[in-house]
Order: sequence, then structure tokens, then C-alpha cells
Amino acid sequence: MDERLGGIEFGGTKTVCVVGGRGVVEHEERFPTGSPEQVMDACAAFFAAHEVAAIGLGAFGPCDPDPDSPTHGWITTTPKPGWRDVDLLGGLRARLGDLPMGFDTDVNVAALGELAHGAGVGLSSLVYLTIGTGVGGGGIVDGRLVHGLVHPEMGHMRIPRSDAERTTFPGVCPFHGDCFEGVGAGPALAARWGDPAQDIGADDPRYAAMWDLEADYLAVTLHAIVCVLSPQRIVVGGGVGAQRVLLERVRPRLQASLAGYIVSPAILEGIDTYVVPPALGAQSGGIGALELAGLALTR
Ligand code: ADP
Ligand code: ZN
Repeated sequence: MDERLGGIEFGGTKTVCVVGGRGVVEHEERFPTGSPEQVMDACAAFFAAHEVAAIGLGAFGPCDPDPDSPTHGWITTTPKPGWRDVDLLGGLRARLGDLPMGFDTDVNVAALGELAHGAGVGLSSLVYLTIGTGVGGGGIVDGRLVHGLVHPEMGHMRIPRSDAERTTFPGVCPFHGDCFEGVGAGPALAARWGDPAQDIGADDPRYAAMWDLEADYLAVTLHAIVCVLSPQRIVVGGGVGAQRVLLERVRPRLQASLAGYIVSPAILEGIDTYVVPPALGAQSGGIGALELAGLALTR
């Protein structure tokens, strides 16, 4: 099947439209995630210029990926101004007609891309965790995307705090304070150390302390993910997450935290290929969205 496919990644700050085939992005366009109407109009204009047979959508959350729910395809309880209870899928259908469309969370879509064409080729289970402005995780178990009651929120797990920080930094998650997102996402790093991408150079002594603490907290999160979902591989992406300095630190901490209890060569001997950056780089989401479009077409 050679029909052209489309994909849209709705991010908190930017939206990306792509066209291509399974595993290949041929063309992409990015624009800021303004109001819902602006974004849906821009997507409609893109797909008016690029004809496709189906579209896969990956959206920031919380959103509703349950096809049997009356609010399927909606962005639901987001704190993002103007975006609460927005019928994204319905708005796009109204503009684009009755094309086959698949809708899922941005991180599930990225997990799908990595499983089909990236770090997870040949596997049947995988977790994709992104640590950027926020933290989110998508999961595939036995070849199927994990949904459930709503969808997993792997970034909001409660984690034990470091003794040194317990009384000095309450965390920045508006809902939970010091869940992993509240202490480990980019804004939490910026609140303590300044923007890690710009203000802290590698020769600043705070640099090692920041990454050590980040790796301690990430290891706790990955420990929980391994114990609950038993993924065959974990892909860690995002502006903070995919940093080599972090992944190098987290691997031995995850092994130490699991303490030999999970008896798998992947963890005991192959940790360098167990916790990995995205093989598709910045395209996990776009390639995943095209894959979701392909699935929508064959459904
Ligand atoms: P988003 O989550 O908004 O889609 P990113 O995944 O690029 O975008 O994450 C942006 C966050 O990552 C920002 O908080 C930024 O400070 C942080 N960041 C970007 N580059 C780096 C870096 N080299 N080291 C540490 N943090 C970084
Ligand atoms: Zn939280």
C-alpha cells in the first residue's frame, strides 16, 4: 500500500504537521500552538495542500483516546489557557471531511514510531518517556498501546525525595508539587539552577550536582515503570531526557535500584541498550503519527 499518510503532533508550544509513508516523513511544517481554532485552521490548510488517505494525531494531554467515549479525541482537563474541553478530532473532521483518523496521546504516538521504525524494531513492548517542559510516558505492551481508564501519566508518579531537597524545594507541579514532573522536568531544573540549556555550563560545579539529582529521581521513575509494565526497552527523549550526561548516570542507578531482582540480561548485562535515547531523534512523534494513520487506514 503506497497511499500517502498524514500526521499531526499537537504539542503544548508547537504543532507539527507531516506527510509521508510508513517510516518516512517527506515533508513537515511547524507552527506555534495558538488558539484551538488557529491550530485546526492551520492543519486544514496544510492538508488542503497535501492530499492524504488517513491522518494520525498525537496530542498533549490530558486527552481522551477512548474510541467508545463521547469525548473521544478531546483535549480535556489541560491547564493550557483556551484548550480545556476542546474537540480536536471533531474540529478536524469538520474541516477535512470523513478521512480515517487515529487519535492518541503524543507519547503513545512517539512510542509507536520508535517501536515500528526506531529503537524498538523487533520488540513487542516498549516505553517512551519524554522529559522536557513536562514529563509524559507512552507504553506498548504485547504490541498494543496502553490506554486504560484515561491514559497513563507516568510523569506524575510520586517519588521519594532526596534528603537534601526535602525541605528546600517543594516542586513545581501545579497538581502534586513534587511528583517526578514537579522535580525533574525542565521548569523544575530552571527553578533551582537556571535554564540548564543556557545558564549552566559543563564546567560549573552545579552542573554535576544537577544531573546527579536528576538521575536519582529518574532512576526511581524507571524502577516503577520496569516493575509495573516490564517493557523490553525504555526510550528516554525530550530536551532534558535525551541528554547523554543524564542517560549515562541513570543506567547504573537503575541497576542498583532494582538490585538484581529483575532477572533479565537486558537489565543485568545490557543496560546500555535497555535505556536509550530515541533512535528517530526528533521524528519519533511524526513517524509515529504516520504509523497511526496507516493503522487507521487498515482498521
Ligand atoms: P517540549 O517539552 O516543550 O516539547 P523539549 O523536549 O525540547 O520541548 O524540552 C524543553 C525543555 O528542555 C526546556 O525546559 C529546556 O530548558 C530543556 N532543555 C533543552 N535543552 C536542554 C539541555 N541541553 N540540557 C538540559 N535541559 C535542556
Ligand atoms: Zn504532578
